[in-house]
Amino acid sequence: MILLNGKETAQGILRELSASVASAGCRPPGLAVILAGEDPASQIYVRAKERACGEVGIVPVSFTLPAATPQSELLALIRDCNTRQDIDGILLQLPLPLGIEPETCLLAIDPGKDVDGFHPENVGRCSLGLPGFMPCTPAGVLELLRRYQLSPSGKKAVVVGRSNIVGKPLASLLYRQGVDATVTICHSKTQGLARECCEADFLFVAMGRPEIITADMVKEGVVVVDIGISRTADGLRGDVDFASVSLKARAITPVPGGAGPMTIAMLMQNTVQAWKKRMNI
Ligand code: NDP
Repeated sequence: MILLNGKETAQGILRELSASVASAGCRPPGLAVILAGEDPASQIYVRAKERACGEVGIVPVSFTLPAATPQSELLALIRDCNTRQDIDGILLQLPLPLGIEPETCLLAIDPGKDVDGFHPENVGRCSLGLPGFMPCTPAGVLELLRRYQLSPSGKKAVVVGRSNIVGKPLASLLYRQGVDATVTICHSKTQGLARECCEADFLFVAMGRPEIITADMVKEGVVVVDIGISRTADGLRGDVDFASVSLKARAITPVPGGAGPMTIAMLMQNTVQAWKKRMNI
């Protein structure tokens, strides 16, 4: 069984990015990191992203806003970041506090600085196979498989979850030309989830329901990517029951240390990509 070590793979990507930033001989990339509200999980994610910036040589420009911040103020900050010359990418940490519409805020981000790949223009580009920023979690998952030389081409891929930030874009990347998987998308209304999962050569799970996928729901030799992460009384858990599923899988990601670090690495990669474009490198 191959353990798909996202942590180590992500470290390698950060080192590659750091070398390309260090050798550029111009101002470093700048990433606006906007955190609105006091969600503890978001605070942890933002700190991890700022740490990764430090490893790559990206300058994080952090904005922490109280939960009661009016939407108009957040929009004004985003517009300011859009025009600032020292900022190449904008990260707006989700979820946003109640009363702030994420769609409106994401739409306000300059698509050329939308390093999370959530702006509808980048979503459209991604689904059409045009150049643009790919959403970080799906891109990270594919990059992890690529680096382990596990190709889903021609294989049956099952994606459990259809959110705008994970399930949908992951499915659309999986069936794009060059990746070439045959894709099934499952969600909470899917009848016979176990039957669908059992068909998968590549199983991608992003539900946010701890350890729902058990060994009887997968076939022998499956490649499993567990994107889900839930805080339980026993610590962080994925959507996959690692102990039993790993006995049948050909390859599997751990939680934590799988998709999470790869997501951050892709955010750094997108930021460097945005910076290179603006600096004509
Ligand atoms: P959402 O809550 O937006 O989406 C969850 C999806 O799972 C929905 O499509 C839902 O179906 C489906 N679902 C829920 N329960 C079931 C079930 N019992 N059977 C089948 N499908 C089900 O979550 P996200 O996509 O934002 O995140 C999913 C998980 O991934 C979370 O644990 C999150 O923390 C994690 N995550 C991890 C990241 C990383 O970097 N590793 C990044 C982003 C997320 P329906 O649409 O019908 O409601």
